[in-house]
Amino acid sequence: MQRLRGIGVSPGIGVGRAVILIQRAQVLRFSIPPSLVHSEIARLEDARRRSSEQLDRIQVRLPGKDLGALFEAQRLMLVDPMLVPRAAALVGEQQVNAEWALQQVFDHLASIFDSVDDPYLRERKGDLADVVGRLRMNLTPGGSGFREVLEQCESPCVLVADELPPSVAAQLDWSKFQAFITNAGSRTYHTAILARSLHVPAVVGLHDATERIGPGTLILVDGDNGTVSIDPPKETLGERAGTGRTARRAAATKTTPLRTADGTKILIEANVDLLGDASFAREQGAEGIGLFRSELLLAGRPADEVTEDMQYEVYAQLLEDMRPAPVTIRTFDIDEDQLASGEQARSTLWSTGYEVPRSRLGLRSIRLTLKRRELLRTQLRALVRAAGHGHLRVLFPFVSGIDELREARSVLAEAAREIQARGVEPRPLLVGVMIEVPSAALTADLLAAETDFLTIGSNDLIQCCLAVDRTDERVSHLYEPLHPAILRLIRHVRRAASRRGVPLSICGEMASDPAVLALLVGMGLRQFSMTPAAIPVAQRVIQDLDSRDLRNVAARALRLGSAIEIEQFLTESLAGSKVPEVE
Ligand code: PEP
Ligand code: MG
Repeated sequence: MQRLRGIGVSPGIGVGRAVILIQRAQVLRFSIPPSLVHSEIARLEDARRRSSEQLDRIQVRLPGKDLGALFEAQRLMLVDPMLVPRAAALVGEQQVNAEWALQQVFDHLASIFDSVDDPYLRERKGDLADVVGRLRMNLTPGGSGFREVLEQCESPCVLVADELPPSVAAQLDWSKFQAFITNAGSRTYHTAILARSLHVPAVVGLHDATERIGPGTLILVDGDNGTVSIDPPKETLGERAGTGRTARRAAATKTTPLRTADGTKILIEANVDLLGDASFAREQGAEGIGLFRSELLLAGRPADEVTEDMQYEVYAQLLEDMRPAPVTIRTFDIDEDQLASGEQARSTLWSTGYEVPRSRLGLRSIRLTLKRRELLRTQLRALVRAAGHGHLRVLFPFVSGIDELREARSVLAEAAREIQARGVEPRPLLVGVMIEVPSAALTADLLAAETDFLTIGSNDLIQCCLAVDRTDERVSHLYEPLHPAILRLIRHVRRAASRRGVPLSICGEMASDPAVLALLVGMGLRQFSMTPAAIPVAQRVIQDLDSRDLRNVAARALRLGSAIEIEQFLTESLAGSKVPEVE
């Protein structure tokens, strides 16, 4: 038996087989029983077939031979025996999941590309990464990735991760895990609060646990003394199981309305990308749809195929599915390149590992659709028609000021007149604005005066305010949701919204981090929208917290000078110690 020592951040004993999560590669690694090898290889083959069909469709649509040829290299890679067949062989040899086998093949081939001098060949690594990303996406078609992969894990498991960002942690099905451990030791503020809320034992700061522990290895995690035993003898297991605490697992708490421990009402809605996600959102306890990313309708097809009738069917169905709960449909948030290629990937972090960078500051979103008015008018006509099917809120994204809002509203009025001219009386709908651009945040009072609701899109707001392109590795560490500038902007918007009596929610990723959620409640936010998988954890966290304590925590946090200081303060305050009153 080998023993590793780290920092225990959540008490209790957890025993299970290791599932390895390599955050760098966004891949889970676990052993599969021999009986599953065949179906795992079949998943790879299916993914190859789907990828090949998608590339065919892209090639047909692309104008000119040169652009089509760009994808020829990727098509050749898809049929290369070094890629999918090699991954299939590894599944059989190592008895590991397909995602991990594919990752190993990618790492190997990427190192070969890196070692050649020829710049043309070196550039092919980008194509390889693209193809592997596509295959990975197609291994879990239409799904969130992790959930589907984890379905295959045999319980009980222990999660062994290099690091565990909240956006990932929030999407895991924690009923599968007895404990978790991480290599990373610093900046674990969210991990600790998460583990305690879930009552899952946890040890962090183990440096190289993901290398030292093989997938499927039996491990015992002791969150009280911060140790991890690898392959513990049966006697130890027996002793510990008899004396130690075991993890209480998180289950969705389906009490509505949701309240903090002191009775403050909190509303949690869901961000969804596809029509089919609505029922999952409901199951997870969402009280409405706070953000429907309608641009996914443009995925894989040219814009003129996304007709008014086709959109009407989708929106009406979504409203019916969620009735009487509200549904917020955002108008297309897409840029020129995505529109031209008809190739939209799901934007949610970790959903597919095949992300489209969203940091672009050019012609995108409302700016694009106001230029391509017919696109917006068609969408708004479909929305006006669908409004009769439920409680509809229309949301304009990436608005930078009042002029854009007014122009968008005038297109909405045109659309309503067109529907009326067909003899259909338009039904009422609410109109809101996403606060994603700092100029919108700073003029939130003006926007609030002319809208029914505001929604803070913190993903973009953080990038724009801090001038950080998250896809640029050299600066991505500067992406700080807890930067004082971000918190001040949010406070500013919150005040503007409450002065005008306009409902405000926050729908960016930051709200699904339990510690940040607690802070936001302390800052007076009462409405959140997040990825559905994060909702049960968020509900649990909310029910445990007292909003009066959180008000003090927030007041103090907002006086601190840096994200690191705020993080440390949050860790200490939320770890259970009472925060002194603010004078
Ligand atoms: C945001 O920017 O916070 C947001 C929710 O929008 P998206 O992630 O789709 O850009
Ligand atoms: Mg956004």
